Amino acid sequence: VEAWSVLEHGKPLRKTTRPFHSPTGSEVVVKVTHCGVCHSDVHLWEGFFELGGNRGRVAVEDAGVELPRAVGHEIVGEVVAVGPDVEPAEVSIGDRRIVYPWIGCNKPGCVRCQNEEDNLCESPANLGMTADGGFASHVVVSHARYLIDFGNVNPALACTYSCSGITVLSAIQKLMPMRPENPIVLIGAGGLGIQAIAMLKALGHQAIISVDVAKDKRAVAELAGAQYVCGSGEGVKKEIIGMAARPILGTIDFVNNSSTAQLAYDILTKGGHMVQVGIMGGELSLSLVAFIFKAVTVSANMTGNLKHLREVVQMAREGKLAAIPVTEIPWDEANVALMRLRDGKVKGRLILKV
Ligand code: NAD
Repeated sequence: VEAWSVLEHGKPLRKTTRPFHSPTGSEVVVKVTHCGVCHSDVHLWEGFFELGGNRGRVAVEDAGVELPRAVGHEIVGEVVAVGPDVEPAEVSIGDRRIVYPWIGCNKPGCVRCQNEEDNLCESPANLGMTADGGFASHVVVSHARYLIDFGNVNPALACTYSCSGITVLSAIQKLMPMRPENPIVLIGAGGLGIQAIAMLKALGHQAIISVDVAKDKRAVAELAGAQYVCGSGEGVKKEIIGMAARPILGTIDFVNNSSTAQLAYDILTKGGHMVQVGIMGGELSLSLVAFIFKAVTVSANMTGNLKHLREVVQMAREGKLAAIPVTEIPWDEANVALMRLRDGKVKGRLILKV
């Protein structure tokens, strides 16, 4: 098995090899064909998160990451080996599947795992984070229930659903129910931000405002169906409120640094809801009194669960979810892919073609 792995943070990934793992018990080995490149891969590669204020940084090792680590969690591939406990009704050799990567401990006493909310498990084995991921020729998946049939959906698109698809669905569901004409402001028009526009439209939402620092990303957002687009930075609060025309009840922040989180808070009307998704880092400083008088809800969103993945895939298979722009890049250019994403040079999603 070959993998592009982080050996040292911030240094180029190196190709590592390990013996093929013959699956035992309920395990399934998937030969990777496509792997989306998410900004979380860039964070893991860089090795830290900014906590904001004078709190400094936290190392990814404190979140359970050990090096060397093959990154990549938006995985699609073909089943090539199954353990003795895997039933043919679950999965068979040759099946092509999306891999749900946010795998939990699966212990009988874990309420989260038993409820298919592995993404909220306290002892995760997340592929591409705390376990080896999809910048590799093969991944080992602990159980067939983490493998989802994507039918005839383009595999380069299907792989994005296991992180960006479920994350945006989960974040949007936190804002719902909301009338279609009530504006929702999305901050960041990268892989997740564009997926969120597609998802909101699929759910029948009409009033979508997309905010991004980069003009070319705003153009992608417009093409994807944002009603209005706007730059980021000082002084945009009034512009966004003006564009919205109606009070802003919901924001989703796919950047989530100190300035974007403040913007999300400032543009909300009374009783509004802000959902924070990005992990670019920083802090939000709030007057607790103003917070009460504004009656705002602040939510943090951590990927999505298996039910979200089944729902997203169902929408895609039924043709209800528009495709986001995806660009395939050869597997051997894994380092180029990470650098392009870090430098803001990706429109939609880059997909490693293994
Ligand atoms: P991306 O690089 O594809 O997109 C980021 C976008 O944000 C870019 O278009 C960039 O121009 C824009 N941007 C950067 N700074 C900005 C600012 N100050 N104001 C407005 N726009 C700005 O990244 P992505 O893959 O979409 O991921 C976005 C973030 O979400 C990352 O931090 C990633 O780690 C995180 N993430 C979180 C979850 C979760 O469940 N919480 C899941 C996946 C990704």
